[in-house]
Amino acid sequence: MSDVKGKVVAITGASSGIGEAAARLLAAAGAKVVLGARRVDRLEAIAGDIRKNKGEVEVQAIDVSKREDLTRFVQKAQDRFGRLDVLVNNAGLMPLSPLDDLRVDEWDRMIDVNIKGVLYGIAAALPVFRKQGSGHFINISSVAGHRVAPTGAVYSGTKFAVRAISEGLRQEAGDKIRVTIISPGAVESELAETITNPAVKKRIEDYRKMAIPADAIAAAMVYAIGQPDNVDVSEILIRPTAQPN
Ligand code: NDP
Repeated sequence: MSDVKGKVVAITGASSGIGEAAARLLAAAGAKVVLGARRVDRLEAIAGDIRKNKGEVEVQAIDVSKREDLTRFVQKAQDRFGRLDVLVNNAGLMPLSPLDDLRVDEWDRMIDVNIKGVLYGIAAALPVFRKQGSGHFINISSVAGHRVAPTGAVYSGTKFAVRAISEGLRQEAGDKIRVTIISPGAVESELAETITNPAVKKRIEDYRKMAIPADAIAAAMVYAIGQPDNVDVSEILIRPTAQPN
């Protein structure tokens, strides 16, 4: 039987939203958590709360668009807790805009963080999981990884890519490594703050009023991690009842 208690779980993008909720819920369930993001002050505050509740936690400043940061992140988990059981590739951004805006820097950034960040996480953890003979990747895609809408061409492209890479990884992983895709719909977080087109930002903020708490996604991680070792929860799609598509 697998369980969450005692597992070492490293989470990228743990300073807010879904990553923060996952850090808190997994630590409360007895996991040893390693939290990564760029805003270390936020990570330290979350870690302080976890320690107050007798949880075990480590933090590290990482930029997932830098391969060496993910290597150090995975190493940190091993140095502190002796192993790594789960890597949650969660860090991401969503600066939606029409292609006509030519916000090419934002396209680059989404590709660097949402796609390459996940690949660098895989590159860092896969050899460790192979050596251990066990491990679990949880990669965060999106409902936007299943469907495309105007202003979301590049963001959806990155989230389709996360699903394709994760499914390929699952097929290659063999019987010792688990791969889970979690595809959230609208969830309360700071995600819309990365939108720089004012009209799109306003529309998305209005749309996201029906967002559900990030705990709903964290609970799915607890579920996927807690399954027996030979059970791969391959994909979970979670959205508000009020979200039409
Ligand atoms: P938030 O904006 O609240 O969180 C994003 C996290 O990613 C932050 O912790 C941020 O930390 C981190 N991050 C961003 N860029 C980098 C980077 N270069 N290196 C390291 N960390 C980085 O949004 P969410 O919690 O919503 O987003 C989490 C994931 O969920 C994303 O992949 C997003 O695409 C996905 N998602 C979210 C949905 C939603 O409605 N909320 C719906 C579907 C998918 P910091 O700035 O401190 O580095």
